[in-house]
Amino acid sequence: MNIHEFQAKELFVEYNIPTTNGLVVRSLSEIPIALERFPEKSVIKAQIHAGGRGKGTIVGTDLPGVYLARSAEDTARYIQQTLGGVLVTNQTGSQGKRIYALYLCDVVEVEHEYYLSVQLDRSTAKPMVTVSRSGGVEIEANAKNLYSIFIDPESGIHAFQIRALARALGLERRIVPNFIELVSNLYRLFCDKDATLIEINPLGLTLEGGLIALDAKVILDDNALYRHPELEALRDAAEDDPLEDRASRFSMNYVAAEGDIACIVNGAGLAMATMDMIAFYGGKAANFLDLGSRADPIQVREALRIVQENPNTRGIFVNVFGGIAQCDVVAEGILEQCPQTMPVVVRLQGASAERGQQLLRERAPSVVLENDLERSVQMIVSKVRER
Ligand code: GDP
Ligand code: MN
Repeated sequence: MNIHEFQAKELFVEYNIPTTNGLVVRSLSEIPIALERFPEKSVIKAQIHAGGRGKGTIVGTDLPGVYLARSAEDTARYIQQTLGGVLVTNQTGSQGKRIYALYLCDVVEVEHEYYLSVQLDRSTAKPMVTVSRSGGVEIEANAKNLYSIFIDPESGIHAFQIRALARALGLERRIVPNFIELVSNLYRLFCDKDATLIEINPLGLTLEGGLIALDAKVILDDNALYRHPELEALRDAAEDDPLEDRASRFSMNYVAAEGDIACIVNGAGLAMATMDMIAFYGGKAANFLDLGSRADPIQVREALRIVQENPNTRGIFVNVFGGIAQCDVVAEGILEQCPQTMPVVVRLQGASAERGQQLLRERAPSVVLENDLERSVQMIVSKVRER
């Protein structure tokens, strides 16, 4: 689960990680309160679940998603022009993301911008702390001068490891104790809250020699959220795909993609392979959807509803390999929600496949049945292309 920068900074405050203070503005009626708190300068930051805001552009303006306002008038004007607008960055895709909240922060003069992150490294199965001397908006484009340490989760992070990070950053000796405390707190936050990523970019070096987090990105592990009911409250439903949410309530995994061929598959591996094969034969998958191993008729029916609610869907490919799932049961689900308005290709193999195919032949004659994987993929690709 992603959270917003202002929420991440609240966690930083809780863990004594120095950061900039601010105020969230969600409607134009709050402008007077904002100007009272920030009568002169402020940094105004669009709160969307994506980075690259500093170099992004708000549609219909030439304004970026992170803006240094120099006066009260400037602050008011920026809020009026951008709140409710759409911000496009190199991480949002061309459709951009709508700005429902702006975060106004104190302006901090910095001498240098570093990069600092903690994330779960999958290849070593360990938390990894990464730093770079060249942080700020450039690092996203070309990751350079990165230096990482890996942490044994049993023994935790050691001061000597943090000193190695400080050396890699070329920090002055007098700053090192602050840095050790900051990184220790960051690691504690990472573990306590079951985060998978915490990124501070930039970590500013102030003129007085202090370190301060100017930006904050936190991703929490969905599978551990049950341990943190207080973090569930940080979920921003407006940022979530409602179809993903609905699928998860039926114990299915759905992720939207950019194409037009909806896929309904049992098993994540087969679902990935199906999407790859669609691409191989010149089509584009509209989604990833894993029914799970059981695949009962209610799930299949709901899966068909979900993919038909995606406005990009122009054809449906059902690919089920029966094992724990029974193909005749899957067929019953298909019959309940089978669209007449677009091509549907179904491949049923394995347990009860013949009975499932029989059911569909009798009661849903418009469904194309094809048992061979490659031919079935070619079939849906060509049918969608013909339309
Ligand atoms: P991002 O582009 O989405 O990663 O947004 P950031 O919060 O990182 O802001 C983009 C850039 O704006 C940063 O890399 C900084 O250079 C600058 N910036 C943001 N907040 C401040 C601040 O409080 N003081 C200063 N001096 N620069 C800031
Ligand atoms: Mn940033």
